[in-house]
Amino acid sequence: MTTIKLHNTRTRKKEVFAPLDPENVRMYVCGPTVYDRAHLGNARPVVVFDVLYRLLRHVYGAEHVTYVRNFTDVDDKINARAAESGRAIGEITAETTQWFLDDMAELGALEPNHMPRATQYIPQMVTMIEDLIAKGHAYEAEDHVLFAVDSWREGYGKLSGRSVDDMIAGARVEVAPYKRNPMDFVLWKPSDQGQPGWESPWGRGRPGWHIECSAMAYELLGESFDIHGGGNDLMFPHHENEIAQSCCAHPQGEFARYWMHNEMLQVEGKKMSKSLGNFFTVRDLLDQGIPGEVIRFVFLSTHYRKPMDWTAEKAREAEDTLSRWYVLTDGVEPEADTLFWVSDALADDLNTPLAISIMHELARNGCAGQLKAAMQLLGFGDAEEINWFRSHSITLGTSSAGDTPLYADQIMPFLQRWQDLRTEKRYLEADKLKNDLEATGLRISNTQHGPHADIPNDFDPAKLEALK
Ligand code: ZN
Repeated sequence: MTTIKLHNTRTRKKEVFAPLDPENVRMYVCGPTVYDRAHLGNARPVVVFDVLYRLLRHVYGAEHVTYVRNFTDVDDKINARAAESGRAIGEITAETTQWFLDDMAELGALEPNHMPRATQYIPQMVTMIEDLIAKGHAYEAEDHVLFAVDSWREGYGKLSGRSVDDMIAGARVEVAPYKRNPMDFVLWKPSDQGQPGWESPWGRGRPGWHIECSAMAYELLGESFDIHGGGNDLMFPHHENEIAQSCCAHPQGEFARYWMHNEMLQVEGKKMSKSLGNFFTVRDLLDQGIPGEVIRFVFLSTHYRKPMDWTAEKAREAEDTLSRWYVLTDGVEPEADTLFWVSDALADDLNTPLAISIMHELARNGCAGQLKAAMQLLGFGDAEEINWFRSHSITLGTSSAGDTPLYADQIMPFLQRWQDLRTEKRYLEADKLKNDLEATGLRISNTQHGPHADIPNDFDPAKLEALK
């Protein structure tokens, strides 16, 4: 069996992954707060942990992995969106939940086994909070219930490696007169009539954000499970608080044993932000005609523990690569017997850049069956995507059944002429023709199967017409 090694944030080491129960490997990943479209940065953990999910299924068997990712559907940001838009909260959360599922499916992400919504687990959260109060780890103050970090000084801050005093000095904590320690965080807060609320022993109110993951992970995965994942922006305070709640409520359990955090995403070397004008959603890119698998490919070309820089150039290169790979593997049976090259790379702390470079090597050597198996393991090759690529590229002499690319009749004669010029060793003319063709937006390459053109969205058929 493949040995998986994962970098554990908790120990700051790459460790051999040994699940509690190989028959049921369990993973929890923090999901989105549903009030808007997922931006590109939100999608990175989805793709990263999707690859891990696929690897675990590959190694332990698809039936032996349980993956939970939540939807936060009670949050003050949602309340604010409802207030400013005049729409009902339930309508906003239902709509954005579906957007999220649709957009992530476009990126080739499998749906987790469970996708609990916070509002479906309020009684479990109330029970957990009552338990924390009974055990002396939480207290009620002015209709709030707070977690007392001083009740668990030995554990609080271990994940992110800071002491409570450092955290107080460095963090922007909400100072409230009723907090015993400024680091104490909210488990329950009161709701006024206009806000969503549930009856509780502390009056009508709603849960704080952190308690939902603790309660849902406990309900669906038990008091000890294998992997907890998320973006590294969640490490503190969210994950630190999840650990405090879960370990104090269930002291005999370990909560999560391996903690994994992906680094953040930038755009063209800069932090993505609305004020810099480089902020965009997954849907924005899809609407621009960038296929989901191209986004996935760009993400996976950087290791998850390194900052990922999204650039238009990388997207173009990814589209070229995938297009060539789809041409090469079209109609080929996947050969899984040599998949270990790629699965070993993934098993080494999800080394996706290495996996991709091995796949380039397979493509260069014409190992189409092996390449196809590797693409499937990494989550490429969705039927819809294949059709997209088929309809956006053309190889001389091939008659692709079904989806004949647009402009095929116009482009084919030029590919033929290019081939003829090269056969006749009229290289200067061949190069000039290639340059002229590329000026129309086409991307011309010579593949094993013959001259090949990628037909991107900015291809201008009028310019091609002018070349005749
Ligand atoms: Zn969480």
